[in-house]
Amino acid sequence: MTRVVVLGAAGRMGRMLVQAVHAMEGAHLAGAVVRPGSSLLGADIGEICGLGKIGVTATGALADSGDFDVVIDFTSPDTTMEALSFCVEHNKAIVIGTTGFDKQQLAAIKRHANAIALVYAENYSTGVNLSLNLLATAARALGDAGFDIEITEAHHRHKVDAPSGTALMMGRAVAGALGRDLERCGVFSRVGQCGPRSSEEIGFSVIRGGDIVGEHTVTFAAEGERIEITHKASSRMTFANGAVRAALWAAQQPAGYYDMQDMLGLKSKAE
Ligand code: NAD
Repeated sequence: MTRVVVLGAAGRMGRMLVQAVHAMEGAHLAGAVVRPGSSLLGADIGEICGLGKIGVTATGALADSGDFDVVIDFTSPDTTMEALSFCVEHNKAIVIGTTGFDKQQLAAIKRHANAIALVYAENYSTGVNLSLNLLATAARALGDAGFDIEITEAHHRHKVDAPSGTALMMGRAVAGALGRDLERCGVFSRVGQCGPRSSEEIGFSVIRGGDIVGEHTVTFAAEGERIEITHKASSRMTFANGAVRAALWAAQQPAGYYDMQDMLGLKSKAE
């Protein structure tokens, strides 16, 4: 049985993760951490997540959880960085779902993975991770053949970072397949007299509203035709189940930096 702690357990994703850990064979919910000072501290996390009493109390810090093997973190960048230090110090695996890290934080995440098994994915759905392979194939066939590439993403009104981590991941998959550097060819804003697009650029457009769980479309547009590859998530449970599977997998891995492509065995096909 793999002992899992959910960090950010009262959040939109956290509640789903508690349900997913509770339901998944081979996983045991060893702890549930909520924001320090939260009014939920001391409550039975099952009651917060719609499961009824499950005998796991919400705590305000990883240090207050019982012993565990792996943390699943869907919180905020600063919280993740603190959790990472704790995991390195106590030799625990971590699955990171949080998005919106800056470059320094991403570099620190990679550095910490020298010491512990660490899975970081901007999207834990199997469908999105399979889509990356389809996108790389389409980009190789179309990207240098007169097709312009644009990425559109839509999320709920509460999302705080943009474009989404998934949109960036898709951008990197497409750019990588074409030998382009997304840092150079990514276009994240067009306003006013911005002129015609270049053939190399990969444009990003962002929609925020309502309760949209997450939708991504990569458009390959040429004169006279276009191809669109779309993924639509209709429930956060798809991310939660993927992250819990990643946690069970991570607990068995040696120290290293992994993503969902590693866990799903898709790496060699995607690259
Ligand atoms: P949310 O705001 O609903 O949840 C975040 C939770 O973290 C909140 O309950 C907050 O109280 C808690 N938190 C903050 N600081 C904390 C601390 N120090 N200790 C414990 N808990 C703390 O947000 P959400 O929609 O659940 O998303 C969380 C993150 O996950 C975002 O970065 C989002 O982009 C990302 N996300 C990733 C995926 C993926 O597949 N990788 C999918 C969905 C969301």
